[in-house]
Amino acid sequence: MSQFLHPIKCQNCNGDIKLDLDNLASYCPYCGSQLMIDISTLQTVLLEREKTKRQIRNAEIRLEKQKDENKNFTIMWVTYFIFILILAAGGGLYLLFSK
Ligand SMILES: [Zn+2]
Repeated sequence: MSQFLHPIKCQNCNGDIKLDLDNLASYCPYCGSQLMIDISTLQTVLLEREKTKRQIRNAEIRLEKQKDENKNFTIMWVTYFIFILILAAGGGLYLLFSK
């Protein structure tokens, strides 16, 4: 199933068709006639496809960035926690040996 679908009407029977943008040479499922796609529709369709692809790509990039940010956030807190542990251990040792 293609994710690039564009609604058009059959010139022969006026049936509603979802044009598969990955396979532009299509036939009407109602009357079987070959669909004639005019150039402006084709341009719209191709622009839509590019836009959809770009949106998907952008969403993927955003997701990657989010993952990286989460990773950095975890690393920051682990580092902070280790730092606090070292401070606490140092403080404990100081208390132990200063008496
Ligand atoms: Zn038709």
